[in-house]
Amino acid sequence: MIDERSTTGRGMAGALSRRLSQSRVLRIARRGADAIASSIERVRAARSQPPKRIRYERFGAIVQLIAPRALVFVDRDYARSIGAAEAPAWHGTEPALGDHPLSAPLEAHLQLTNKCNAGCKGCYTGASPEGSPREYGLVEWKRAIDALADAGVFHVALGGGESAVLPWLGALADHARARGIIPNLTTSGLEGLESLLGIADKLGQINVSLDGLGDAYAAVRGFDGFARADAAIRKLRAIKREIGINVVVTRANFDQLDALFAYAAERRLSEIELLRFKPSGRGARTYDELRCTDAQHRAFLPTILAAAKRHAVRVKVDCSYTPMLAHHAPDRALLAELAVYGCTGGDFLVGAKPGGQLTACSFASPPPALDHERPRVEQLAAYWNAPDAFGAFRTWRDAAEPCASCTYHALCRGGCKVVSSHVTGSLAAPDPECPRVVDHAPRRVHLPLV
Ligand code: SF4
Ligand code: SF4
Repeated sequence: MIDERSTTGRGMAGALSRRLSQSRVLRIARRGADAIASSIERVRAARSQPPKRIRYERFGAIVQLIAPRALVFVDRDYARSIGAAEAPAWHGTEPALGDHPLSAPLEAHLQLTNKCNAGCKGCYTGASPEGSPREYGLVEWKRAIDALADAGVFHVALGGGESAVLPWLGALADHARARGIIPNLTTSGLEGLESLLGIADKLGQINVSLDGLGDAYAAVRGFDGFARADAAIRKLRAIKREIGINVVVTRANFDQLDALFAYAAERRLSEIELLRFKPSGRGARTYDELRCTDAQHRAFLPTILAAAKRHAVRVKVDCSYTPMLAHHAPDRALLAELAVYGCTGGDFLVGAKPGGQLTACSFASPPPALDHERPRVEQLAAYWNAPDAFGAFRTWRDAAEPCASCTYHALCRGGCKVVSSHVTGSLAAPDPECPRVVDHAPRRVHLPLV
């Protein structure tokens, strides 16, 4: 089951400690009231909105539920049992989920612009005040939304650059809603806040990037923007419940993870989403400085589970963290049930650059070709079934060791290809930061000098 408030993340349950201080009891009671109000809203939404939508797949179907908001993968028998008619996609033997790419992505990450004045030193897309050449405008992005809706995409994650400054963002969100697509947004909170406050109700989940508290924000981003981001979070949360934070985890803020969960609880945010630092955009230049250490990667899962329990905050982690989860040998069936999949770029998700160039995910580069020859997002349906579509993202089954013999390979798909490409030069190489891959690497023997 995939929670539809997700962008790239997956949810994990939290639990309450038995020994609570009075202030924590009050905070949790407040969040309990939020949860009840949220449930009532969901039930009302379920009554007032059209019922579930079904998208046929070779393995069965994907069912979109309104309450709870979720995408549920069901086999053919189950789909029949809830009234789905026989589908052309069901001709032939029923394959397992993952044997073939889906009929279309579940979500598309649209980088609406590469314009941004913040200048973060690890920006995944190298955004600048000038933006990219030939960026799409409202007309082109509406056309892209139409193509995604026609293909059966369920939601889009809108980002940048800084998309909050785009004067047509509200109109695009309206268009997505009209086509049955939920538009979620990520913003720095540093620009365009007043406009965003005026259109927040048109959007789904809004997450503000917050890569650290106080000085840690500056250590990760290269400037002190914490107070402004915090002010944006407060203002957005005052008018909307679905406000969360995105945290890019680096070696500079890893020790602050518990404090970031406490911050999310204090601000009564709906989620904290943790993203691995990727070597793309300016992040390629600052990767060695900011990427987490091997010890931090191994400690990631227990650290966030403890923080989620301590602060009763809902947490999501992005697709690139699956090797760090697999390191702790969790139950594979449970992971599949919770839709904890690894590198599903070019399958469950796609990205689009500001000029519409289609990519496997928001961190991946477009295919190597002249720009005008690259497929655009509105050509998704034509490109999707091309024999070499998305290259190494679709050939993950041909894995080298230690992925080939890894019992999590069908879920993880070899880890983050953007990291593999940057570190090893090959998209298809096993994720070099996966603990199993680190342990598998030949040991260098240092002989004592005599
Ligand atoms: S390369 Fe794969 S794992 Fe990495 S961010 Fe893209 S989809 Fe996720
Ligand atoms: S060995 Fe490969 S498939 Fe297994 S967890 Fe690591 S990256 Fe993923």
